[in-house]
Amino acid sequence: MKDQVCEMCGKKSSNLKTVLVEGSMLNVCPNCAKFGKPVKPEIAATPVEVAQRLEEREKRFKTKNVFESVENELVDDYAKKIRNARVKMDMTPEQLGKKINEKKTIITKIESGNMKPDENLIKKLEKTLNIKLTEKTKTEKVETKKTGRALTIGDLIKREK
Ligand SMILES: [Zn+2]
Repeated sequence: MKDQVCEMCGKKSSNLKTVLVEGSMLNVCPNCAKFGKPVKPEIAATPVEVAQRLEEREKRFKTKNVFESVENELVDDYAKKIRNARVKMDMTPEQLGKKINEKKTIITKIESGNMKPDENLIKKLEKTLNIKLTEKTKTEKVETKKTGRALTIGDLIKREK
C-alpha cells in the first residue's frame, strides 16, 4: 500500500480513497476525495465533524442581523471649539468658569486639551457657548446570511455539461 499516487492531483498518499468522479472510479488522496462521491459509505463522522456541521447549519439558517448603536462622542477638536467660542463671546476663562460654576483652571485645562469635560460639563459648555461638542457615532454591524457551501469541482463539471 506504499507510495500510491492520487489519480486526481498526482500527490503521493498512503491513504487513498475510492471516489466516483464523473462516473469513473478514481483512487484519490483525502484532499481530492471531497470532489467526488464516495463509493463506500462514509465512516461515521467524528464528534468534531458533527459539531462543525451543526455550526455551519446554524450559520446557514441565521437571518440577517443588524446591530446598531448610537453614541454621543466628544468631538476631537473640542478644546479649539470651546476656546474660539469663548473668545468670540468676549469672555475670559475666569468669566466662563463663573458662568458654568467651574474653576478657571478647569476651563484652561479643557481649552489646552489636557482635560476632557464630562457629560455634565459638556452640556453646560454647549449651552453657554452655543456650540456643539458631541457628535453621533453610529456603529453598524451586519451579519449576512451564509450560503453555507463553497463551489466544488463537482459544480464546475455540472456547468460544462
Ligand atoms: Zn489528490
